[in-house]
Amino acid sequence: METGPNPARNALAELLPPLTAQAAAVEADRCLYCYDAPCTHACPTHIDIPRFIRKIATGNLRGSAATIYASNLLGATCARVCPVQELCEGACVLGADHKPIAIGRLQRYAMDYAREHRAFPAVTAAPAGRSIAVIGAGPAGLSCAGELARRGHAATIFEKRPLPGGLSTYGIIGLREPQEIAIEEARMIEALGVKIRTGVEFGRDITLAQLQNEFDAVVLSVGLGRTPALGIAGEEAIVDGLEFIEESKTAPEKMRIGRDVIVIGAGNTAIDCATIARRLGGGRVTMVYRRTDREMTCYRHEYEFARGEGIEFRFLSQPQRVVFDGGRVAGLVCLRVELGAPDASGRPAPRTVPGSEFVLEADQIVKAVGQEKPALIAQLGLKTKKGFIAVDEEFRTSIEGVYAIGDCTRAAGAASTVMAVEDGKLAAAAIHKALCGTEAGYERQPSAAEVR
Ligand SMILES: Cc1cc2nc3c(=O)[nH]c(=O)nc-3n(C[C@H](O)[C@H](O)[C@H](O)COP(=O)(O)OP(=O)(O)OC[C@H]3O[C@@H](n4cnc5c(N)ncnc54)[C@H](O)[C@@H]3O)c2cc1C
Ligand code: SF4
Repeated sequence: METGPNPARNALAELLPPLTAQAAAVEADRCLYCYDAPCTHACPTHIDIPRFIRKIATGNLRGSAATIYASNLLGATCARVCPVQELCEGACVLGADHKPIAIGRLQRYAMDYAREHRAFPAVTAAPAGRSIAVIGAGPAGLSCAGELARRGHAATIFEKRPLPGGLSTYGIIGLREPQEIAIEEARMIEALGVKIRTGVEFGRDITLAQLQNEFDAVVLSVGLGRTPALGIAGEEAIVDGLEFIEESKTAPEKMRIGRDVIVIGAGNTAIDCATIARRLGGGRVTMVYRRTDREMTCYRHEYEFARGEGIEFRFLSQPQRVVFDGGRVAGLVCLRVELGAPDASGRPAPRTVPGSEFVLEADQIVKAVGQEKPALIAQLGLKTKKGFIAVDEEFRTSIEGVYAIGDCTRAAGAASTVMAVEDGKLAAAAIHKALCGTEAGYERQPSAAEVR
């Protein structure tokens, strides 16, 4: 990875600086250490937040990290990417009249300490004698494999990309999480005894039958696919938003950014694409959405952030076709939209107004309109729910011995890293129970040496 001065990388470097020791101590001291803390309830992985904060306040950073790892092996990523305003910090009792505790930044403080001092979790369980194949090294797969290793199982992850980490490595904008954090976290999971075999694609290089022969269980944590097609003329000239973000993480200095950039979409990914374009020199960056700001699927704080970045918004506009001039992208033809009664998504249905065509000038167009369902659902003939892999409460799919977790199963609710991590943790417990007939399998609390 490149080091030294690099304006493109600097423009997309992690937005929030780490807390200083003094700032962390002051912030930790503000915590009321609530009984039955609402912040812990609001965390999908139920990290004991007052406990890890109290340990920061007493200078026990090793114990603080251990408390986080007890509930969430991917605490360093979650500290950076979690929408804390919607989760723990949104639930903090101090939020009502004062500023909520900066839980995410305190968690990052403890996780940075763990990283610098290699205060990582260790496996204490005896070998349990079972082997599990996990497909996909994203947050769900890493969490599941790590939790299985903690229970003494041999877990092997098969990952098609060259690097582990899934969207944390390739999809989450560098302003929120630098790539090296996600990769180092995956290395920590490896250090628990998990094998990560990158460059191996399930369905191409290995089959389900092979894995069923070799392993006691198979876990699918393959996430979702590429950006779906818009089905408009000239689409081949539109940049895929996921590829756009990936390039911004791997080779930002090589990116070509237009002077007049349009981003189609209104979710968090679209905001990320617009932010990248703006920060890497896009003169005017406009997000185009067929509904209004009230219906946007991005978090409100992301919308406000984008406005602060100088990103413009063009609502009630439905893209129709790309305009070319001399073979180059010159604009996007849209139709004006009116909103009708709510559709299946519960949001007002957009209706295009005939004859209302207008052109938005652009020399680059990026689409960020969600992700396709993974192709292997059809290949394996898996039962689905709303197009996602259907699982029961123990994460079992319709195929015996095959489990599924993370985004590929997220038929309801917004997909997020922390939910994928929780899926992995719960699935590991369910698999352990199914294979060994016992509930626990490892000591979840930090050791006495770690707690003061
Ligand atoms: C652009 C973007 C930004 C996001 N930002 C945030 C954020 O800031 N905060 C947040 O909480 N959430 C965010 N999310 C959502 C979050 O990244 C996902 O919910 C999370 O990564 C899901 O984890 P996962 O392990 O299920 O899937 P993924 O992270 O997608 O990982 C799946 C892995 O499986 C691998 N794989 C797929 N098919 C195969 C195969 N056939 N063989 C082998 N390997 C395979 C993939 O290469 C990948 O590594 C964002 C999502 C996107 C798209
Ligand atoms: S709700 Fe706020 S004050 Fe109470 S324990 Fe959680 S972070 Fe501390």
